[in-house]
Amino acid sequence: MHNGDRKKPGAEGITLRELESSVEAIFRPGGAISQKLDGYEERPGQMLMAKTIAKALQRGKAALIEAGTGTGKSLAYLVPASLWTAYTGERLIVSTNTINLQEQLINKDVPFLQSILDVDLKVAVIKGWSNYLCLYRFQALGQHGQTSLWSGMEEDELTALAEWLTRCKTGSSSEVDFPLSQETWWEVCAESDVCLRSRCPYIKECFYFEERRQAFAADIIIVNHHLLFADLAVRQVLGFDSKRSVLPPYRYVILDEAHHVEDVATEHFGFGVSKVGVSRLLGRLQRTRRGKAAGLLPQVQALLETGPGMPPARARAALWELGDEVIPALQRSLTTSSRFFDGAAALIRERESDRAVPLWPAPGGIHLQDALAEERQAFIGSLEGLGRGLASLKDRLSTAEGESWDLFKAELGAVESRLSQIQLALEFMSEKPHLDYVYWAELTGKRSEPSLHAAPIDVADVLRQGVYRHLKAVVLTSATLAIDKSFGYIRRRLGLDEIDIAQDHCLGQPPIEELIASPFDYREQVLLCVPTDVGEPRHGRYGDDLADYIKDVLLAASGRAFVLFTAYRLLREVYQYCQASLAEVGIRALCQGTAPRSLLLEQFRSDTSSVLFGTSSFWEGVDVPGEALSCVILTKLPFQVPDHPVVASRIRRLEEAGQNPFVEYLLPQAVIRFKQGFGRLIRRTSDHGVIVVCDSRLLGRSYGAAFLRSIPECSTVIGPRRDTLPSIASWLVGS
Ligand code: SF4
Repeated sequence: MHNGDRKKPGAEGITLRELESSVEAIFRPGGAISQKLDGYEERPGQMLMAKTIAKALQRGKAALIEAGTGTGKSLAYLVPASLWTAYTGERLIVSTNTINLQEQLINKDVPFLQSILDVDLKVAVIKGWSNYLCLYRFQALGQHGQTSLWSGMEEDELTALAEWLTRCKTGSSSEVDFPLSQETWWEVCAESDVCLRSRCPYIKECFYFEERRQAFAADIIIVNHHLLFADLAVRQVLGFDSKRSVLPPYRYVILDEAHHVEDVATEHFGFGVSKVGVSRLLGRLQRTRRGKAAGLLPQVQALLETGPGMPPARARAALWELGDEVIPALQRSLTTSSRFFDGAAALIRERESDRAVPLWPAPGGIHLQDALAEERQAFIGSLEGLGRGLASLKDRLSTAEGESWDLFKAELGAVESRLSQIQLALEFMSEKPHLDYVYWAELTGKRSEPSLHAAPIDVADVLRQGVYRHLKAVVLTSATLAIDKSFGYIRRRLGLDEIDIAQDHCLGQPPIEELIASPFDYREQVLLCVPTDVGEPRHGRYGDDLADYIKDVLLAASGRAFVLFTAYRLLREVYQYCQASLAEVGIRALCQGTAPRSLLLEQFRSDTSSVLFGTSSFWEGVDVPGEALSCVILTKLPFQVPDHPVVASRIRRLEEAGQNPFVEYLLPQAVIRFKQGFGRLIRRTSDHGVIVVCDSRLLGRSYGAAFLRSIPECSTVIGPRRDTLPSIASWLVGS
């Protein structure tokens, strides 16, 4: 149980008292931070959080920490993490949900920390394979572009990429600063199953391996939850200590924005097959782009006809294999894939559902093996045939020599192995379903393309067995983890409720729990407004009353507001209703879906009287301090749709265990989301504003108290709509 390849200066040598003293020396007045920051004021919550994390790391425990907005939690975990890695030589992973937070840590908090700490702190960021350009694939593209093998590619994009390569630092797609289609990036990005590793002539300059080398040498590695869980899913197969995974071995993890962990784990410990994904994979073999043939097979064909590296007789045999076996098999796969997925789409539409529909064995689920028996069999059979054809072609190319051939063989092998993964997934979903999994089909994207999915119903056990069991300490933190001041819900959902009898990992003892209140003065800064006559959602005039009231609130607040919905349809209706009245008084209304999210936020920030109408992605991860956001309207308590197959299966499982799914699952989830929406308003000590909750269930239902007790105490106004408006206007005067 160690980091394997890292030196350990004195893992056993640091006592908790010493670690806490070092933490204090950094945060206390006159300490390292105050010497660097003018006007620094010690925040007791930040000190408490940092010491709690020091304790979890030193004692080898799990910790759950809710830290209210303004605690300064990034430094509160980076300081003890840095000291711990410096004292012990242990590697530590920090994982965030959003790229925004990842970038804030690496660009702002880490450099600051490095400037105040008396230790040589190495921090690295690593992303998944496909985020980096593969020099070998790009080089092949350039070479073959000249001989028209890649004639379907965009010449201008390739030229721009070549120029970009002379000035980029990390070769990461996030550095691309010119228009580049996703399709072209997929042609040149690094991929695990295509990479030639030690046989690659570019291995020494490789961007991906350079970042990985830095990560292996780093004390702290900053990742996002998606990469961490994709890596963990691979470790489930290869073993937790595998060095073939993206991340180096580790034993200490800090998960920020940890309220997302259940969703991310559900996604990554599950799998899916989609029409778009299959088309893209088959298109990798052969497709038409701008009227020209593109893809692997035309390149292989051209190289066989003109290129070196193969004796003529073997080249002829390979050409025969390609023309008579592989291409017909590819065409069969395209046809059977369309029939199968179109059939699945028709079955979903028959249910008259615009959402996901369950698959067998869920009660009432579509039984794919019965409903699409012929289509499914033909699809699996054609994928098998194509896989056999590719294996045989690869075999005929086995003696071909030269860099281009090495790459083509690797690319063909990658497609072959992905075809067999699709086959396995289809068989697993429709023939041998696992009772701990939920299966569903849905139409997604602008073109409503069908896809099939499987996910574990409960991730608690997967996390216990696949993650915590291998860690010495894990810290889960967020501004929203507790419900009604209790961590019971998150403990149960994330598998930290059952104590393992083994003592050599972080499950050996109950988790440390700490609830750190925000330092903001919410009574002075926030007016919570609940109109009593809007009615409950889905009742009578709810929609009309809501639209009317929102318009009045926005006028009373002079704009400067987020209006947050749980459904896009209602958002559109209210937006359309309010737009003209707002325009009359010069308030600009911005609506989700009309422009990219980042652009809408930029416009909202720069036009300080504007209003933004948004759904789920605006309930969290958005930071707009100051006057531009003075009012947040939460149109409805954000309960999940209970008929989504994942939610429905979790509800069923709780019922089977004799528990109340509303109390144990739906309500806590909605409270966490509500807290996130509430948290948009106050981002700084100087912020001041109004939260309006247009859902009378907050007061009229017994469970409403759970929402109210989970947010800080604010000033309040409760009453009929017309009576609340003057209070809102006067609260906002001068803000
Ligand atoms: S080592 Fe792999 S990812 Fe890197 S350039 Fe070579 S083939 Fe591409």
